[in-house]
Amino acid sequence: MKKFSQEDPPVFEQGPIRPPSEAYSLLIRVTRNCPWNHCSFCPVYKQAMFSIRPVAHVKNDIDLVHKYVDILRDNIDGTGGIPPELGSLLGLESLFLFDNQLSGDIPPELGDLASARAIYLNGNQLSGAIPPELGDLLSIEDLFLYSNQLTGSIPPELGDLLTLQYLYLNDNQLTGSIPSNLGYLDNLQRLLLNGNQLSGVIPRQLGNLSSLLYLQIGKFLRQDLSL
Ligand code: SF4
Repeated sequence: MKKFSQEDPPVFEQGPIRPPSEAYSLLIRVTRNCPWNHCSFCPVYKQAMFSIRPVAHVKNDIDLVHKYVDILRDNIDGTGGIPPELGSLLGLESLFLFDNQLSGDIPPELGDLASARAIYLNGNQLSGAIPPELGDLLSIEDLFLYSNQLTGSIPPELGDLLTLQYLYLNDNQLTGSIPSNLGYLDNLQRLLLNGNQLSGVIPRQLGNLSSLLYLQIGKFLRQDLSL
């Protein structure tokens, strides 16, 4: 397993925004900010000067990206599982491993990815329980675990993910009740739990989800909720 040393921090620079059409692309940052910066509707680069990054810094970023790719290729291809060591990639912002044939458990170490804004593990053959440690993902906005073979109950710790916008747990084999803690997710816009074997009542605390636009629980479906 390749690891990063202290002298070689696992972070490469990313800009603050990217076009939706490039959501799944790797972008290497060559410039910073906007050379025009006069569009009145655009707050993104206000107070920030345009600059061109030094070639050496860009090359260093490319080397870091190469190491990330090596780690993923060496480990995921060889075992069919998600390597726990991915949790050491502390600068990782997006982990897209969807629609493969990954099997085994979701490593609890993924909860260490404090910079991760998107984790897509959907469309695999992952099994076992959802690790409560995923409740430590301090920056997560999209958590897609749907269309796997996950069992056990939904960890109440997911109610700690206050930055979460999309939570897709549908089409697994989850059991137990819906944790009332999910009602703490003030930024949650989409919650999909259908296609599981959940039981009990829908917690009234879900009525606190003031940002919720789309909720799907089993055969129950409401869109554009006004809560
Ligand atoms: S100010 Fe904003 S919208 Fe206008 S060109 Fe620059 S980045 Fe684009």
